[in-house]
Amino acid sequence: MIEKPIITPGGKEPEIVIDRMTVAEFSEKIYKPVGEVILTLLKQGVVAAKNQSLAEKVVESLARHYGIKIIEKQKPEAAPSHTSKEVATEGTWKERSPIVVVIGHVDHGKTTLLDFIRKTRVAAKEKGGITQHLGAYEVKTGHGNIVFLDTPGHEAFSLMRARGIRVADIAILVIAADDGIMPQTVEAIKRSKEAGIQLIVALNKMDKATPAQVEVVKRQLAQHDLVPEDWGGQTVCMPISGKLGTGIDELLEVIVLQAQLLDLKANLSLPPQGYVLESKVEKGRGPVATVICHHGILKVTDYFHAGNTWGKISSLVDSYGKRVTEIYPSMPVQISGFSELPQAGDFFEVVTQEVMKKGILEPRVRPEMGYARKEGESELNLIIKTDNASSREAVVNAISKIKSDYKKASILFSGVGDISESDVMLAADTGSYIYGFHVKVESNAQPIVQKKGIVIQSFDIIYKLIEDVERLLESGKPVKMITKKIGEALVLKVFDIKGLGIIAGAQVKTGRFIRDGKVLIWRGKQKVGEGNIKGLQRDRKSVKEVHTGFECAFLVDGFDTWEVDDRVECFQEVPE
Ligand code: GDP
Repeated sequence: MIEKPIITPGGKEPEIVIDRMTVAEFSEKIYKPVGEVILTLLKQGVVAAKNQSLAEKVVESLARHYGIKIIEKQKPEAAPSHTSKEVATEGTWKERSPIVVVIGHVDHGKTTLLDFIRKTRVAAKEKGGITQHLGAYEVKTGHGNIVFLDTPGHEAFSLMRARGIRVADIAILVIAADDGIMPQTVEAIKRSKEAGIQLIVALNKMDKATPAQVEVVKRQLAQHDLVPEDWGGQTVCMPISGKLGTGIDELLEVIVLQAQLLDLKANLSLPPQGYVLESKVEKGRGPVATVICHHGILKVTDYFHAGNTWGKISSLVDSYGKRVTEIYPSMPVQISGFSELPQAGDFFEVVTQEVMKKGILEPRVRPEMGYARKEGESELNLIIKTDNASSREAVVNAISKIKSDYKKASILFSGVGDISESDVMLAADTGSYIYGFHVKVESNAQPIVQKKGIVIQSFDIIYKLIEDVERLLESGKPVKMITKKIGEALVLKVFDIKGLGIIAGAQVKTGRFIRDGKVLIWRGKQKVGEGNIKGLQRDRKSVKEVHTGFECAFLVDGFDTWEVDDRVECFQEVPE
């Protein structure tokens, strides 16, 4: 279905050049909220977070969905291709080293592999120079350099993948060939697909795996849409032994080769932009953070902004522990000069001094929610997580049967397993509620839940979960108000009080009279006026209400031609 035409603030129809871009960039171009675009993508079967890069064909299909005018892309040779955050800008482009992350199930050999590479590939004098752990290091190979994020399951990586940000270009999925695909392997496959990271499989522990076990792993990989190359597919599988060091040279070669295919380029003319990998407070230096930039040359004395903090670079220390005055893209670097500690995963950018000064004066709030929940929306977005496939089916079925004439429950995602960071991020980006059945919230997701104010409801009994969804569906329903007569009074006296106006002195005959109540005034059978009670007094004191039998005095907004014996009816708005 094509949406109704969008008109830009300038009154022009928006147009778009089909190119890779993030969800946020797309929504900005078409003047639609990010949350809405994410929902449209979900309806098209694409799960994408705000900062996720979209392939051209996805951008095109979205543009067609919104009826946006498509502009032909101009000569591709003019702008070299590059990955990460796509930046279509002229300037000096230069190849950059691939940034690689090692992922996989616990005990499958990630640390052993990274240790082996560091020991054998980082020259001794350089190793000696490493005085502190930076969270990433650079390896030189005959064909080019590779940057490894050196902590397996790096906190920054998990945060970043949850945010859909691609700090790494390539992920090495380590699978112990004698053990096969395990739950964390599946999770790692899912995450890299979501983040759009190029995956290379390292079949580890080949020194003790049997050929039959290796075949089993390949079959399992194929079942997860990662068909190995020797089976006619496109997934590169490298047999290695992290312990003995066999196959590592070949693995590094393949990484360099893949990087060449990715054609990773950095624009050196842009102000540097990247992400914070780690941060800590160091004695004598204050807050320091490791940053990797995808573009621009970072220099000492540059002004910058990262997350909610600002600063001026006072020192740069490279991954060999050497102080440098500038650093090129893809190179991890430790920066000092932060006013406060930034967080792993924070976006980092170099800014001008003016922008920094302005930013400090008018603190910019980190954009937390890509999607603000709006009252009166007709759909209630839900994310369902359950302990197994049959409970998932039962919960999803029961929710789809709930009938509400006010709102519709729409299940954006349902899955088996504990509530993870990516579930929480999806909820934040789409304004969804999360329902868990016999599952818990993963500990690393907890801080995000609190920070983003995500509603998570957990249940052990299905009907209680369903009751809660029903409650939510009805909770925003506007209450229908009716006007109800609550009392009648007879005017006994009329006062003209200077500066106040004409006041009716009356006795309440039935029911009650209330301050701000609406009144109708009758003379005989004729209605002579109406209005709202402005001031209500009993015994010269202001009161909220006066009951049957009591005398009172009141002013009525918009009516002052009172006569004795006028009959006054008092009304109140009450829920139906
Ligand atoms: P991680 O949890 O994925 O980081 O796994 P580790 O690197 O800590 O490895 C877990 C265990 O597997 C350790 O006892 C390693 O010595 C062992 N290991 C790692 N790689 C190999 C390998 O290639 N062959 C053998 N035989 N053992 C390995």
